[in-house]
Amino acid sequence: MWQNRDVAPSYKVLCVAGARPNFVKIAPLLRALRSRPHVAAPLVHTGQHYDRALSQVFFDQLGIPAPDLSLDVGSASHAQQTAEIIKRFEPVAIAEQPDAVLVVGDVNSTIGCALVASKLELDHALPWAGPARRRPLVIHVEAGLRSFDDGMPEEINRKLTDVISDLLFASEPSAVTNLRAEGIPDERVHLVGNVMIDTLLAARERALATDVVTRLGLTPGGYGLVTLHRPSNVDDPRQLAELLAVLDDVAAEVPLVFPIHPRTRARMEAGGVRPFGARWQLIDPVGYLEFLHLQSAARLVLTDSGGIQEETTILGVRCLTLRDSTERPATITDGTNLLAGTRRETIWPAFQQAMREPCSDRRPALWDGQAAERIAAAIDRTLAQ
Ligand code: UDP
Repeated sequence: MWQNRDVAPSYKVLCVAGARPNFVKIAPLLRALRSRPHVAAPLVHTGQHYDRALSQVFFDQLGIPAPDLSLDVGSASHAQQTAEIIKRFEPVAIAEQPDAVLVVGDVNSTIGCALVASKLELDHALPWAGPARRRPLVIHVEAGLRSFDDGMPEEINRKLTDVISDLLFASEPSAVTNLRAEGIPDERVHLVGNVMIDTLLAARERALATDVVTRLGLTPGGYGLVTLHRPSNVDDPRQLAELLAVLDDVAAEVPLVFPIHPRTRARMEAGGVRPFGARWQLIDPVGYLEFLHLQSAARLVLTDSGGIQEETTILGVRCLTLRDSTERPATITDGTNLLAGTRRETIWPAFQQAMREPCSDRRPALWDGQAAERIAAAIDRTLAQ
């Protein structure tokens, strides 16, 4: 059973998660939804990420209840994986008859499940929408973020998901502006803050109690933390080699710890590319709590991740984003992020600036640990009728 309750639920929100960043976002949402006795909120795990380091460890560390349904789609090309998600999610959605389907972020599970939901014909009409509407509500959390780079698979997922969503929850003001510019009606869009930060603030104390920093022999404030996994950075061996070469020079100044994403490890092995020098520690991906501790104690973080730009902002740790664009501009204007590009000519000066200049102490509005609660309340206002 997905929930203990004394009263019959008045509506059901089928929640979807499939990949590492999704688990961090779904944890507080499930908590907020399931704390309402009149809400049923079963969890579907699509299985986009399936190994322990990218999936189970998040369930264990963040106290996410075991999925009610697992689709086990596994890895494949974008088209095949998305198709598999669609094929396997449809019968689940038909059996569950949800009043709403909630998706987070920008991965293939996000668009795949949103698409299924947007065309589903329920057995019942939705009371809040009158007798005519039989399609479940599509809810997108982290709506409206745009890198304006269609070469990013995630950008396609974001845009397509937003256009078929009924309730769009935005984490920062730029997202609201983007959705308005795309013609999404204002009444569908809610600026609520950032659910990733809900998770961070709730886990921070436990993270700082882990022994990862001492176990790796690191000096707090004396090392850099690296993550890389975007296809544009890791799939082309020449680009990956250029990035690692400039990071080698960074390592000469500040020792670097690099938890290597499986995708990146495979590309490094296939291309025969690896960092040189003794001042690197190459490790496997670490659990959420350990990674949060590693971020908190770092001198700086160098990354192409989306979520890590946000986490470093709240931790007050300098972030160099190794990309040419960011869909999270609030981390630059109201945070600690510097867009460093992907070439030596831009990364090296950004690194020097980061070492020289202190971070601003501004923080984005509403990144306060209460975003999931705001979302659950807004869903309630629409569905609990
Ligand atoms: N993360 C983690 N262990 C690691 C690297 C990252 O727990 O070794 C966490 C990180 O704190 C953040 C999330 O994974 O919460 C970000 O996921 P990722 O960078 O894969 O996805 P993106 O945010 O780029 O979509």
